[in-house]
Amino acid sequence: MELVQIDGINVQSQHRDFTILKKSGLALLAIGMFFLMISLSTLGKMYSDVLLFLSVGFIISGSLIYIVAISRAEPAGIKNNGIMFRSLTSRGVVSWILAVFLTSFYIILYWFPHLLENWIRLVDPLAYLIMRQPADQWFLYGTFYTISVLLMGLYMIFYKYRHNRYHQVRTLSIMFFQFGFAFLIPFVLKGLNQPDFYFSYFWPLKYDYLFPGTVDFLLAHPGGLGVFMVFWGAMMSFIAVPILTYFFGKRWYCSWVCGCGGLANTAGDPFRQLSDKSSGAWKLERWTIYSVLIFSIVTTILIWINSISAGQIFGQFSQTMSRIYGFLIGAIFAGVIGVGFYPLLGSRVWCRFGCPLAAILGIIQRYFSRFRITTNGSQCISCGNCSTYCEMGIDVRWYAQREQNIVRASCVGCGVCAAVCPRGVLKLENGSVGKRYNL
Ligand code: SF4
Ligand code: SF4
Repeated sequence: MELVQIDGINVQSQHRDFTILKKSGLALLAIGMFFLMISLSTLGKMYSDVLLFLSVGFIISGSLIYIVAISRAEPAGIKNNGIMFRSLTSRGVVSWILAVFLTSFYIILYWFPHLLENWIRLVDPLAYLIMRQPADQWFLYGTFYTISVLLMGLYMIFYKYRHNRYHQVRTLSIMFFQFGFAFLIPFVLKGLNQPDFYFSYFWPLKYDYLFPGTVDFLLAHPGGLGVFMVFWGAMMSFIAVPILTYFFGKRWYCSWVCGCGGLANTAGDPFRQLSDKSSGAWKLERWTIYSVLIFSIVTTILIWINSISAGQIFGQFSQTMSRIYGFLIGAIFAGVIGVGFYPLLGSRVWCRFGCPLAAILGIIQRYFSRFRITTNGSQCISCGNCSTYCEMGIDVRWYAQREQNIVRASCVGCGVCAAVCPRGVLKLENGSVGKRYNL
């Protein structure tokens, strides 16, 4: 405790206690990161049990202590104090260092995984527990990814969104789908000698799920589970996606289910204000995202034609296109740029400029959905908070000032524009399709 004076009266402040607690949490986190870094050496392979326990244990306990401290020290409400001045969140030196680290990690993960061998062996004990076999680079990646979503998800629930039930539930949903559907279920299935299928990703985002090779492999898998997976993939892509998007807009998937959006709205949240709001970026986004969509549809069709004609029409051409798609879109765009550039371009680069499923959801949302953001323009004070924190680069204020509903294909319905508005101008709603445009 320390004594501070307010209006000449001595008052006991708990500030110092929480500062110490915060620093303790950060110190434990740093120790955990230190153990993680030394695990990159051969020590990671030699003492995997101990180093896994120490690194993950310190990282988790340090993060939890920090979350408890900051949530008790600060009043409820979204605070972005100093965000434009911190090196990490305003494209300063720290953000460049982080971007280089992240992009290097993705390049090594995709093309030089042997350099991560000691880290992969580090997570062997966890891999044996979940899938009864040694880890590979994708298990390592899934572990890192899921821990990031879960820890930052707790930070969002107990600190940033602790005043806001909607965002707490939304964040819980993201954590649930990442941990259950994108981590536990696929790796448990793998351990049971079943196909490691991701039930929360659908074609064309998971572009090979409707390729003939995947479909044939799943249908031929004994036990009937493969048949269900093919049915699930096709049903979600062609029936559930249009119906759910009609009722709820893009948000049911991009802000509640998808792992890419999950990482963006947890670990990537400190960078959401870096999204480009210029009209040039809006134009570019329309070119790139629909090009990727066409690329993925054409590739899928060509591969099917090739499969049905037993390679008579296109020979190796369709397979080559599939490989090019996997390299350019699946690896470089979605991974290296999509996450590696978080600290420089914001957290939704992939969702905004590349994701072919987001393109389909966006077309349905724009023309056939009940979803819209309504604006009560008379209350708007033009502070610009909404535009600043829109992760998809939408100039929300422009619509609010004109009292126009926001019906944009790119809006992922995260709802943060409404949450940061000091005047309650914005509201995410599902209503009748005919009354969406109040121009
Ligand atoms: S307009 Fe609002 S709800 Fe839509 S993406 Fe931007 S911040 Fe999220
Ligand atoms: S945050 Fe609210 S008050 Fe500020 S510009 Fe946007 S709509 Fe207007």
